[in-house]
Amino acid sequence: MESRAFSLFAKKPSEITDLLGLDKPFQGRQVYQWLVRGACGFDEMTNLPKALRQRLADEHPSLFSSKVMTSQSDPDGAAKLALELHDGNIIECVLLTDKEGELTACLSSQAGCAMGCRFCRTGTLKLKRNLEDFEIVEQFMHLQHVAPGKISHVVFMGMGEPLANLDNVVSAISFLHDPDGLNLSHRRITISTCGLVPGINELSKRKVPVKLAVSLVTADDAVRSELMPVNRAFPLRVLRDALERFQKVSGRRFTFEYCMIHDKNIADQDADRLARFCRGLEVIVNLIPFNPCPELPFETPSDAEIRKFTNALTQRGVEYTIRISRGRSIKGACGQLAGKLEENR
Ligand code: SF4
Repeated sequence: MESRAFSLFAKKPSEITDLLGLDKPFQGRQVYQWLVRGACGFDEMTNLPKALRQRLADEHPSLFSSKVMTSQSDPDGAAKLALELHDGNIIECVLLTDKEGELTACLSSQAGCAMGCRFCRTGTLKLKRNLEDFEIVEQFMHLQHVAPGKISHVVFMGMGEPLANLDNVVSAISFLHDPDGLNLSHRRITISTCGLVPGINELSKRKVPVKLAVSLVTADDAVRSELMPVNRAFPLRVLRDALERFQKVSGRRFTFEYCMIHDKNIADQDADRLARFCRGLEVIVNLIPFNPCPELPFETPSDAEIRKFTNALTQRGVEYTIRISRGRSIKGACGQLAGKLEENR
């Protein structure tokens, strides 16, 4: 039988008032403020009457529905947490520090993933279930507890396809964004999709003002269908139409994530196709060298191969950046999350 989860995260102050059976509505707001400041228990909420604190602590020993199983860190500044959810599923989330010292939380939106991208470890897990909005916010809060400063950016690039769980992702974003709470700017929140066209269309319709990243990987339909099953349902032409609509509505530049794989997608013809696909779109290509995983049949390109490909892109006028992979040694880099129990012990 599925256990019921108790969590105060992703709730409005009025919902907290109801959930905790508080007499006075302002107490719901007080609890909310303690939560976003990072309180770990009711005993810390010193502006609540002592007897109330005691009752709440007795009824709810933890504010979280999830618990941190392990925390691993990498010399390059990445930290990965494995969280056990209330039903025993395990998910992972990652804290990344860039060279300016800015902190980014990389959050999961699903336990496992149904999309089956062949270059991604999460894809080998299959989908266990969607995460609830509070389970998404709790990842952020757990990461904030281990972070050396305030987390300023969020990317939905962890486990799962966020556009396949859009309601919960949007609800979590509204909690993260609340100006009376964590106050994270929408411009600092990125949703990354493998190219789920109905989700991109829905995002355009709802006008959620976050940044969009699309994992393109190749602009060759045949190769993309081989690497990313989503392309069989929504080929490049259909994806492009959806992106044009998104750009029209949002007026924003978006990002193509391009995982560079040895012998797969970094030849001169690939640069030609990518340049053609980008033409007319306000886009920047984020090049990510494939992060090696023993269970995946691909190789990271050499530095010389990467240089040749980037030169080819420069010659064709494609705007790009290269993402420095962080967290490889703890399997926390892009495409390496797997929520496997044996790796988190
Ligand atoms: S890349 Fe993203 S969408 Fe594709 S399998 Fe991995 S987690 Fe799922």
